[in-house]
Amino acid sequence: MIRFDGVSVRYDGATRDTLRGVDLEIPDGEFCLVVGPTGAGKSTLLGLVNGHVPHFTGGTVTGRVRVDGRDTRQSRPRDLADVVGVVVQDPRRGFVTDRVDDELAYTMESLALPPEVMRRRVEDTVDLLGLAEFRHRPLATLSGGQQQRVAIGAALTAHPSVLVLDEPTSALDPAAAEEVLAALHRLVHDVGITVLLAEHRLERVVGDVDAVILVQPDGHVWHGPPGPVMDIS
Ligand code: ADP
Ligand code: ADP
Repeated sequence: MIRFDGVSVRYDGATRDTLRGVDLEIPDGEFCLVVGPTGAGKSTLLGLVNGHVPHFTGGTVTGRVRVDGRDTRQSRPRDLADVVGVVVQDPRRGFVTDRVDDELAYTMESLALPPEVMRRRVEDTVDLLGLAEFRHRPLATLSGGQQQRVAIGAALTAHPSVLVLDEPTSALDPAAAEEVLAALHRLVHDVGITVLLAEHRLERVVGDVDAVILVQPDGHVWHGPPGPVMDIS
């Protein structure tokens, strides 16, 4: 479970809070769409979940964010890889290796897993995301949609309980975006992890999700069933 207790964020130099007194409880297995106008604080909310905020962004955070009981500010983001997996907008900016199979194995390295466990997880991930035909190829030779599927796979090999995706299709053409959302749809149903997804293609995903988080420009956050958001958008 993800819990926010009275969380406010103020970036350095800002004159008001980006997030303000946020209380949230996101149950295990929830597929949650994060929406709100540009600049409202969607990335900030997602970044709090894996400790990216304030670790890499600076700013003052009050209150507490816990994932599976772990305070995300007490760990370095990479030490949270087995709790929260992250997929960013442009997959190339998240890659740390040059090849598909190396990238899938990399996230597990800090977890000190036995080699046979790592091999099995790579196999499972290749199957789950349909990566078999290019698993030995350099990442640079893949299409944007294929690269983003690898990025999702790399996050999943650490077996996190939460997957955070911050606009994973915004850097892709419509066909590649569709490919990524279809893969996400399948894995939500097959893997059953908690998913927080910020996504502009609302009409494509709103039928799939269990809940919506609306981040408002004043920093307040609403969390509820997906119905009402259709009226707002
Ligand atoms: P969204 O994802 O909804 O577009 P963000 O969370 O990226 O919104 O940003 C919310 C507000 O916080 C914006 O006004 C943005 O300029 C500001 N902001 C984001 N990151 C930083 C940072 N590292 N330092 C200062 N201000 C930031
Ligand atoms: P943008 O700057 O437009 O939001 P991205 O979403 O691709 O573009 O993020 C830019 C960089 O910020 C990425 O290379 C990534 O490493 C880092 N980043 C952003 N959000 C997070 C997060 N929640 N956790 C870890 N890294 C993040």
